[in-house]
Amino acid sequence: MEICGVLGLGLAAPLALPACRYNAKVNAPFKGRVLIVGAGAGGLSAGYLLAQAGVDFEILEASLAFGGRMKINRDFADFPIPLGAEWLETGTDIFRKIVNDPDVPLNVATVPDPPDCKFVNYSWYQFFEDYILPSVAGRISYGQIVESIDYSGGEIRVSTQNADYTADKVIVSVPLQILRDGDIQFIPSLPQSKQDAMRKTVIWDGFKAFVEFSARFYDEEYVFDVQPPDAGQKIYYDAAYGQNSSMHILGLFAVGKPAEIYASLSDSELKDIILSELDALYSNQAGPNYIKHISQNWKKEAFIRSGYISENADWKDVRELGKSLGGKVYFAGGAYTDGEDWVSVHVAALSAKRAVEELSA
Ligand SMILES: Cc1cc2nc3c(=O)[nH]c(=O)nc-3n(C[C@H](O)[C@H](O)[C@H](O)COP(=O)(O)OP(=O)(O)OC[C@H]3O[C@@H](n4cnc5c(N)ncnc54)[C@H](O)[C@@H]3O)c2cc1C
Repeated sequence: MEICGVLGLGLAAPLALPACRYNAKVNAPFKGRVLIVGAGAGGLSAGYLLAQAGVDFEILEASLAFGGRMKINRDFADFPIPLGAEWLETGTDIFRKIVNDPDVPLNVATVPDPPDCKFVNYSWYQFFEDYILPSVAGRISYGQIVESIDYSGGEIRVSTQNADYTADKVIVSVPLQILRDGDIQFIPSLPQSKQDAMRKTVIWDGFKAFVEFSARFYDEEYVFDVQPPDAGQKIYYDAAYGQNSSMHILGLFAVGKPAEIYASLSDSELKDIILSELDALYSNQAGPNYIKHISQNWKKEAFIRSGYISENADWKDVRELGKSLGGKVYFAGGAYTDGEDWVSVHVAALSAKRAVEELSA
């Protein structure tokens, strides 16, 4: 269980980080050019570290936005609504590990929400926006859908739908589902061991909804009994918990099988199902108190198409997913780790650190 203290009362202010500071375990900065595929937590973190080291790099992002599964909605409530990553699933010392510079003041308020922590009127997305993005913003090319990575020669050739790029090293940071669907052709093909791990690893759907009510009639948390237990999770929870807000916002978090059910519904069906589930749990108080709702179906996001890999994945497969290819192609992100842990934003960030260190060795 992680217990975190409240680190500060204010919100983090945007900071421009000097590009030359670098204190990761890198002997000498890599001299060549690096392409990063994907601007989620993994890709942005990798870019940040390369910027600090003064390495020439570019991030190719298929969509028109950075952040991937850290996306937030800023309009629904008077605090940011996290449509993907919400909890800090480790201690607050992780901020200093991600922002790899002791001189940068970090001002991020969190509140314990055992076994995790929550940001207070803040989010993972904003943390990256404030502390990581300033170092990489000018190096992101949006709307570049990577279709092939040819690492057969000395120089790596990366092709998108409308442009060709060359690089000495590539860091792949797209969701595992994108690789499994074959969106990116690797030349030569990915090793059989990695293809086997990709096929075997269960990828859960991910779905979230947020409902505003005129009163709080619900518990802090209601966890459903999903069967079998490794099929996924479904939780209703007080999304305004710990926030500086008087709004009553209930969250629905569903991954795996329960997410599949919600993902197939129309918006009005979704509203009806959620209200009838809550009415059954809380003596018909949901319907009369309903104000509005929003939802996020990650399966429908063109360049994500999934929630995340199952928490019950085999660590050996995960480790295989994270392995680099012949000193040329590296992997960073929630699905590409050393097999110790996977999925969370902080894990994606640390996997980028590993990739950059390996690349520079
Ligand atoms: C519903 C849900 C709840 C979650 N809750 C939490 C939580 O509470 N706490 C937590 O720590 N984590 C949580 N996570 C997990 C966390 O959000 C992700 O694991 C993490 O953000 C993944 O980062 P990433 O960089 O690996 O991938 P992504 O964020 O998916 O980024 C990958 C990027 O690659 C881009 N891309 C895809 N294909 C291409 C292509 N062909 N060419 C170029 N770019 C491409 C995508 O557009 C995207 O921007 C949650 C996730 C979901 C879905």
